[in-house]
Amino acid sequence: MTPSDHSASAVVTRFAPSPSGHLHVGGARTALFCWAFAKGHAGTFVLRIEDTDQKRSSDAASIGFVKDLLWLGIGFDEGPEYQGQGGGANGPYFQAQRLDIYQRYFEMLLASGDAYYAFESADELTALRAEAKGKNQPFRYTGESARARAPAEVQRRLDGGEAAVIRFHTRAGAITIHDEILGDATLPEGEVDDFVIRKADGFPTYHFAVVVDDELMGVTHVLRAQEHFNNSAKHIVLQDALKFRRPIYGHLPLIFNPDGSKMSKRDKDKVLRKAVAEKGLTSPPVGTVDPLVFSAWLKDKNTQLDLEAAQSLALAIGAVLPEINVDDFRKSGYLPEVICNFLSLNGWSPGGDLEKFDTEFLKKHFDLSRVVKTAAKFDRTKLLAFNLDAIQAMSRDDFIARVSSHGREMHPEFMSKLTDAQFRSLCDASHERSKTLDELFRANTFIITADDALTWDEKAISKHLRGGEPTGAVHLAAARAILAGCSDWSVASLESALKPFAQSLGNVGKIAQPLRVAVSGESVSPPIYDTLAILGKASSLRRIDRCLASL
Ligand code: GLU
Repeated sequence: MTPSDHSASAVVTRFAPSPSGHLHVGGARTALFCWAFAKGHAGTFVLRIEDTDQKRSSDAASIGFVKDLLWLGIGFDEGPEYQGQGGGANGPYFQAQRLDIYQRYFEMLLASGDAYYAFESADELTALRAEAKGKNQPFRYTGESARARAPAEVQRRLDGGEAAVIRFHTRAGAITIHDEILGDATLPEGEVDDFVIRKADGFPTYHFAVVVDDELMGVTHVLRAQEHFNNSAKHIVLQDALKFRRPIYGHLPLIFNPDGSKMSKRDKDKVLRKAVAEKGLTSPPVGTVDPLVFSAWLKDKNTQLDLEAAQSLALAIGAVLPEINVDDFRKSGYLPEVICNFLSLNGWSPGGDLEKFDTEFLKKHFDLSRVVKTAAKFDRTKLLAFNLDAIQAMSRDDFIARVSSHGREMHPEFMSKLTDAQFRSLCDASHERSKTLDELFRANTFIITADDALTWDEKAISKHLRGGEPTGAVHLAAARAILAGCSDWSVASLESALKPFAQSLGNVGKIAQPLRVAVSGESVSPPIYDTLAILGKASSLRRIDRCLASL
């Protein structure tokens, strides 16, 4: 059988994540390319959940993957059923639900002599590996004695409940992998040994399940990360033994940090460790991480805090963890269309100088010939610039709608404390400076802080209230008197009420900064008249009074 067997079929691609953890941006890029390629060829995009490693897989992770893909706008034609997506004639789309299907193919291979039971225990395999290492040779399981075993003996041992795996009998010969992106590569004879296809727990290995499913789901093009390139050799020998069609392969370059390191969870840990060291923390802030876990983590640099613990600690100490997963970018207020645009440029380009395009464009133009072979570098600064541009290009109404939907999901408490009018004013005051949809919430927690709970940044107080001649506090008291007389609390009236006084001081900052620090606690906030208008008269005056009293 040859790849041409698929040539008359409509294109079918698949994204096949293993559901542990969260959808990494690299995985999202694979999904995006698979989707674009299928859509560009009027084909089908399949989502298949590869959950045969039961210990590492979880339903929560599977749902998370589906949600992240849909958030990015990557819908699937076949796959797990979720909110009107998925379903399909080739299901189930969870590998753990396909064990009876795999069993049929195990039996075929056992019957044809292409597979056999093997009974080595983990200890025996370790000893064999050590022996190979001692001889300075790579370990290759060849299984002559296992294959020579009489069928009756095999049956007796299986009936006796002995643990066994099924191994594929790889025949002699070199194996050539054709790859549309990387070109051809030939693995010499002996490189692929008699590998396990069914584990002792009855589950297929990744290699086996992927081959059976790609055939039964009619997958014509396998586009996946380069780390799977060598695995293709195992897939090819299995396809041949099972008389399956051969999909066309395209292995996509990995995505690295600009310094060439892998983009992984470890990046978050590094940032957190640095922030903890800078603050000299020896115990965790209350309510973040279990103190025992924290001290064990501090002692052993090879350990990592779990994601939730890391996030709560980061929040408490003001550390900003780098985004790695799609979900991180979503929480940080990146736009899904920007992520898709940016990810498309990580390993592919439409040619020329064109960099900004949408997924409609990608669908039309994505092709394997322009996928690069070398690793892509994930340039966060550029991503942020893309996000800023997209936000600045939004209409006022769009911006409000999108920030509000982000807020309802990520900051429900903030949203519940603001009236519609306050929220709109805050959006208007923040749009021009927003690089993400999240900044507005992060930067303005002072708005939802109770007036009596507001605290002031010491540095800001000493610079803007204690400093100056006369001091900022003196100007603040004068401004307070003017504000108290304002009956109309709109941005325009506040501005016209305070302007003459500000002008008399020769510098608006002389009253803007003391006022800002007094009502927000910090020296940065939206424009001062907007800030006052959003807070309202009672809150503003109360905060100013408390601030003056605290001096
Ligand atoms: N389950 C594999 C992974 O998550 C997918 C491999 C493939 O696409 O064949 O890496």
